[in-house]
Amino acid sequence: MDAVTALFPICRSITGNGLRQTLSYIKKHIGSDIIEVASGTQVFDWVVPDEWNITDAYVKNADGVRVIDFQESNLSVVNFSEPVHGSFSLEELRNHLHTIPDQPNAVPYVTSYYKRTWGFCLSTNTLKALEDGAYDVHIDSTIEPGSLSYGELLVKGSSNREILISCHCCHPSLANDNLSGITVAMALAKSLQKMDTKLSYRFLFLPGTIGAITWLATHTELLPNIVGGLTLANLGDSAFFNYKRSRQGDSQVDQAFEYVLQSSGKRFGIRDFSPYGYDERQYCSPGINLAVGSFTRSVHGTFDEYHTSNDNLSFVSEDNLEQSLSILEQVVFVLENDDTYMNMSPMGEPQLGKRGLYSEMGGYSSHPDQNMAYLWVLNMSDGNNSLLQISRKSGIEFRALVEASSRLLDAGLLEAVK
Ligand code: ZN
Repeated sequence: MDAVTALFPICRSITGNGLRQTLSYIKKHIGSDIIEVASGTQVFDWVVPDEWNITDAYVKNADGVRVIDFQESNLSVVNFSEPVHGSFSLEELRNHLHTIPDQPNAVPYVTSYYKRTWGFCLSTNTLKALEDGAYDVHIDSTIEPGSLSYGELLVKGSSNREILISCHCCHPSLANDNLSGITVAMALAKSLQKMDTKLSYRFLFLPGTIGAITWLATHTELLPNIVGGLTLANLGDSAFFNYKRSRQGDSQVDQAFEYVLQSSGKRFGIRDFSPYGYDERQYCSPGINLAVGSFTRSVHGTFDEYHTSNDNLSFVSEDNLEQSLSILEQVVFVLENDDTYMNMSPMGEPQLGKRGLYSEMGGYSSHPDQNMAYLWVLNMSDGNNSLLQISRKSGIEFRALVEASSRLLDAGLLEAVK
């Protein structure tokens, strides 16, 4: 929650100093790199945009009072607004004002990255209180060539097979949508940095859409190493867990996630891939087709607080963030241990008793699950079934199969399949 609180006031966008400041904070805590890609760089079908920076913006009434004030909330300016300085009547100004009519107290989050315009966002109640007359309008922003910034951290495992963990970090003061994903990703990176893992984990902190496209376009040589991944967002609210499958639909990451949610004892939702949402859209575009799913609690676009000033610090909690992290750590456990084996004594059942592996008592057994775990692993380990697949077939807990396979491996009855 510390990161959410620290990063909340910063005015982020898809480029600019707010984004850079956010990436510096992440770098300070997990040692990630900050990469800059020059404006104008062609990335697939897109071009890296100019940099947007803003220092102040306001609408002042005839008494000189700021009735809309960027210093109070960075949502009050349309993100990527071009500079403007002048006097406007309320009628002229209305074309540049954005509200949410059915949530009269909330300020909307509005962007205009690729069409040059300017505007302000305010609550319907604030708009209603504005009197006719002239207003002094200032947006002190610049849109100039610079660079797009993103953060990257590779936590190396013993193999070069990689899991991609990606979150967008381009939204200004929105806690659940962007900051919760960043915070949980940072915590996961910290916990992986303390472990010896088989897989490598690549963390990306990117501006939405253009950041993922930029990374993909500049790293095509790495794509064959990526065995799966996740986009993280909306992980701090109190809704139940939601997993959106990758375009591949039944990849190892998809299977691992579904297993963890099913065995969590908590309510959850699983839905098939659709080409809308977060940056899984880019990772799952047909020419890329990585096995990247999406982990959220609330689903984008479906909750009242989404892209409004009500997605604030009180909408997310430490406890919810920690529960989300715990799900991810369990998914990592499954991915790290979901190995495939070959039974080295496949002619009839090997005699487990003489190896001290089987409860010798005929009839009643005090360890029925452990014994069943041995039998399932031995029977299914023909080189084609991973432990997770055996768990799905047998209904035996994945952890019990991991333990059983480890003992069978020690006894020389299994060999890992590469
Ligand atoms: Zn969003």
